[in-house]
Amino acid sequence: MPLHQQLGRAYWTTRPRPQCRADSGQQCVVDGGPRAGRVRQVPHADRLRPVIDELQEQKKRGVVRTMWQAYDVTCPHCGQEAGAWCLTPGEPHSARSKRARELTEQQEPRL
Ligand SMILES: [Zn+2]
Ligand SMILES: [Zn+2]
Repeated sequence: MPLHQQLGRAYWTTRPRPQCRADSGQQCVVDGGPRAGRVRQVPHADRLRPVIDELQEQKKRGVVRTMWQAYDVTCPHCGQEAGAWCLTPGEPHSARSKRARELTEQQEPRL
């Protein structure tokens, strides 16, 4: 699939100085031959490729989310450290699970 079909028009002119030296916000122009200087129907591929790469990278980063589990945090209820079971049998304390959920929501980086 041609690159300009993989990318919305809003992104076509975000990068300045492609091979035709168009500024950001300006359309690509033909950079040689008898039609030099005319606006191109589609941007130069070298202008779009880095934008596509960047968007895919961002998407990837969004998918690979940091997940905190209850046992990754110190329990606010019984004070057990990360990695240690809560002092009561069964599920970890709900405050501990809640803390893990909050850290996941905030996307706190794990050590
Ligand atoms: Zn261009
Ligand atoms: Zn606990």
